[in-house]
Amino acid sequence: MTSSVSTYDAVIVGGGHNGLVAAAYLSRAGRSVLVLERLPGVGGAAVSESPWPGVAARLSRYSYLVSLLPERLIGDLGLRVELRRRRISSYTPDPADPSRGILVDTADAAATARSVTRVTGDPDEAARYAALSTRLAPLARAVFPTMTEPLPTASALRESTGDDALWHAVTAAPLGTLIRESLATDITRGIALTDGLIGTFATADDPALSQNRCFLYHVIGGGTGYWDVPVGGMGRVSAELERAARDAGAEIRTDAAVTSVSPDGEVRYAGSDPGVAHGRVVLSGVGPAALEHLLEQGGAASADVVRPEGAQVKVNMLLSRLPRLHDDAVAPEAAFAGTFHVNETMTQLDRAYTEAVAGRIPDPLPAEIYCHSLTDPTILGPELRAAGAQTLTLFGLQVPHRLVADADAVAARAELLAAAQRSLNGVLAEPIADCILTAPDGAPCIEARTTADLEHTLGMTGGNIFHGDLSWPWADDADDDPARRWGVGTRHPRVLVCGSAARRGGAVSGIGGQNAAMAALEILAR
Ligand SMILES: Cc1cc2nc3c(=O)[nH]c(=O)nc-3n(C[C@H](O)[C@H](O)[C@H](O)COP(=O)(O)OP(=O)(O)OC[C@H]3O[C@@H](n4cnc5c(N)ncnc54)[C@H](O)[C@@H]3O)c2cc1C
Repeated sequence: MTSSVSTYDAVIVGGGHNGLVAAAYLSRAGRSVLVLERLPGVGGAAVSESPWPGVAARLSRYSYLVSLLPERLIGDLGLRVELRRRRISSYTPDPADPSRGILVDTADAAATARSVTRVTGDPDEAARYAALSTRLAPLARAVFPTMTEPLPTASALRESTGDDALWHAVTAAPLGTLIRESLATDITRGIALTDGLIGTFATADDPALSQNRCFLYHVIGGGTGYWDVPVGGMGRVSAELERAARDAGAEIRTDAAVTSVSPDGEVRYAGSDPGVAHGRVVLSGVGPAALEHLLEQGGAASADVVRPEGAQVKVNMLLSRLPRLHDDAVAPEAAFAGTFHVNETMTQLDRAYTEAVAGRIPDPLPAEIYCHSLTDPTILGPELRAAGAQTLTLFGLQVPHRLVADADAVAARAELLAAAQRSLNGVLAEPIADCILTAPDGAPCIEARTTADLEHTLGMTGGNIFHGDLSWPWADDADDDPARRWGVGTRHPRVLVCGSAARRGGAVSGIGGQNAAMAALEILAR
């Protein structure tokens, strides 16, 4: 056991993408920084991996699309990342009749309108759908630029949004009300509602409004709400952040699992080269429950922390070709290029919630799918590319951690894989299994990552992809304390949150890391 203590301006617990952002900003400001990551590599949930031995496909194994990463951050840190915009926003086969579906083509409003009318039978629904996006635009433009500034007050933001009724509908009344008032059909309402249910276990009308907060984060990214494809996969984003942090002088240690954090900045870690480091500030890139455990180990009085619960399953697949659709009017290359909604009408989403509350995996499992390789084939090796292979990612909703927490891990994965394939097969013209490639070891190239897998592999408590329920990105009142002003405080003045659990940290955004770095710089300058 190493006994000498190295001292740094900042010690960062966890080398997720947010920890790397914080490290890069602090090092560029001339501060000494140590990042401690328990896994062999950095990036956390923002990584590219090859799940099948001998198969040259580097998948964004967990997170896969980018919306909330600010351009300013990319510029500040000199990141060489390309975020590619997709022309097709979404395709939604009608679960009642999958021979027709809604294709939202951002470059062809008339074709989109025809497709909405064909499925809904309502000639006005396309205009309503477009109007909802238009109505949300000022909210996105008002909120997003504030995400990397000290917390604005709610009243200032409401004023700059310029639409009090919309402000109330998004921040004070359950999302279901806005969706039902804006849209007239179950299928379009479902498309809108999914933005509120990513990793979030709720109904449209949940009075706790967690679905509203999730919705807000999904429609404000970049001031537009577009979700872009990171070229090279999500691992490319983290690799660039690692490069930026190291180039600026940050020390990054992997295989270094933090075992305790004391409120005055002593951090102990285990691994192949264990040690003790002291930070004038400590930045936590892990979730609140994990941080609380580390603080208790470091001698802090215990505090009650809500254990978060994730509510999704991610399925990664490699296909020999895209599956055939029942819908002759849409090519699979268009349908799978955007978000492909499977059994996600508003009624199906709410029914799935009820089934999960009753202890059952929803049937059909609501899910959304997307094919990375159609937009960016570089994640496949040359042979797979030449053979026309495609990746497919499925994100299943309304699967709370409680359904798998105590189950056998292998059985839980198998059950969820079966549920996902059943749901998908219900809208395809052929079973998805017919398109799945086989690895050299004979195993099919399909895997499920459950909430339990996220907890065990990434340390995400309860498999919650945002480290906990998302928070409103504003404060009730102005505050002079740097940590509170930037939304990164804990009850210990020298311990800040830099990860997804920071006030505005959810998703692949780097915003938690940037904001913690800004607060830390103010504290260190005192
Ligand atoms: C399946 C899935 C799909 C998602 N899809 C998207 C998406 O498409 N777009 C999007 O924007 N967001 C998505 N998200 C959410 C997003 O990935 C996360 O919110 C974000 O990556 C969190 O980043 P972070 O750096 O805050 O934390 P994390 O990525 O959780 O990183 C925390 C790091 O801390 C390390 N760690 C934990 N405990 C210790 C310890 N004791 N000592 C040292 N290190 C420790 C972990 O190993 C990890 O590397 C998804 C998440 C998941 C899981």
